[in-house]
Amino acid sequence: MDSRVDVKNLTLDELEAFLAGKGKERYRARQIFKWLYQKDAKSFSEMTDLAKDLRNDLEGTARISNLAPEAVEISRDGTRKYLFRLDDGHTVESVLIPEEDRSTLCISSQVGCAMGCQFCLTGTFQLTRSLTAAEIINQICAVKRDVPVRNIVFMGMGEPLANLDNVVRALKIVTHDDGLQFSTRKVTVSTAGLVPEMERLGREVTVNLAVSLNATTDEVRDRIMPVNRAYPLRALLDACRRYPLPGRRKITIEYVMIRGLNDSLDDAKRLVRLLSDIPSKINLIPFNEHGGCSFRSPTQDAIDAFHRHLLDKHFTVITRSSRGADISAACGQLKGKLDSLASQA
Ligand code: SAH
Ligand code: SF4
Repeated sequence: MDSRVDVKNLTLDELEAFLAGKGKERYRARQIFKWLYQKDAKSFSEMTDLAKDLRNDLEGTARISNLAPEAVEISRDGTRKYLFRLDDGHTVESVLIPEEDRSTLCISSQVGCAMGCQFCLTGTFQLTRSLTAAEIINQICAVKRDVPVRNIVFMGMGEPLANLDNVVRALKIVTHDDGLQFSTRKVTVSTAGLVPEMERLGREVTVNLAVSLNATTDEVRDRIMPVNRAYPLRALLDACRRYPLPGRRKITIEYVMIRGLNDSLDDAKRLVRLLSDIPSKINLIPFNEHGGCSFRSPTQDAIDAFHRHLLDKHFTVITRSSRGADISAACGQLKGKLDSLASQA
C-alpha cells in the first residue's frame, strides 16, 4: 500500500493544513492547486515555481492520482461513455453528453448504490463502495483531456448524498477559482431524497440541486424508492423549499415516467399541486428499459399529454431524450462492470 497522501483528495484548506504541518508556507497550496487542476500536472517535479526542497519533500510524502479511461464508447448521437478502473479493480462510468458548446459531464459518486430504487440498474447491484474525492475529481480531469466540459452533473452511478463528505470535498475543488474553476451555476447534485443530507449540502457548498421525485403519492413512491419510507414526500418537498440555491436558480425535479405506474394525467395534475410553491423546472425522463426489471417505457401519447399539462400550468419542462441508449449510457443504465464482478462472486 502506498501510504503517501493523495493531494487530489484534499481541498485547498486541507492542502494548506498539510503544508503547514510540515512547516511549509501555506500559500504554496494555491500554486499546487493550479498545477493540478489548471495545468494537469502529473508529478511534483513539474511544479517549477516551487522550491526544490519542497518538491523533493512532496515526492516522498504525497502523490498525485489519476484515472485513465479503460474504454470509451461513442454513441450514434455523439454521447460518450467512459469506463474507469479504480486502484482496487472496481469500475465506474461517466457519460459526456455533447451539445453545441455546452457539453455536460455526468459523473459517478459510488460503485453501485444502496438506495434500492426498483427501476434503476445501478441500484440492483447494491453498494460496493463510495468513491474518494480524488476518484470523483479524476473522472472530470480525465474527460477534460479529451473534450471541453461545461456542466457537471452528479447523475451517474450512486447516491451522492450518501457519500456526502467526499462529494462536498470534490465540489469545493470543482468550483474553486484555483481548482477546476466551474461556476457553481454549472454544477448540479442529484439526490433520491436524503433530507438531512440535502440540508447539510446546502450549508456546506453552493450548487444546484436535482431531486429524483418519480412519483406523486407516497404509496407509489414507497414502492419504487425505499428512501421514501424514511423521508416521505412532504418532508422531501419541505427540504426543497428550504434549499439555498445559487442566485435565483430553480430546483430540478426529475421524474422518470414508467408505463402504467406514474404516467397518467392524474399524476401530472398531482405533480402540479405538489410543486405549486417550489421554484422548479421539471425533467421528464421516459423510463429506459434494461434487463434489471420488468418496468416499461411510457407511450409517446402519455409523454406528450403529461408534458403538455405541465406546460399549460406554466412549468418549465424538458422531456429528456434517452441519449446514448445504444451504448447503455442513458439514465439508469450505468453499471460499470458490476455484472461480471457479481457473476464471479
Ligand atoms: N442517486 C441519484 C443520482 C443518480 S441520477 C438520484 O437518484 O438522483 C440517476 C437518475 O436517473 C435519477 O433521476 C433516476 O431517477 C433516473 N433513473 C434511474 N433509472 C432510470 C431508468 N431506468 N430510466 C430512466 N431514468 C432512470
Ligand atoms: Fe441509487 Fe439514484 Fe439509482 Fe436510486 S436512482 S438506485 S438513488 S443511483
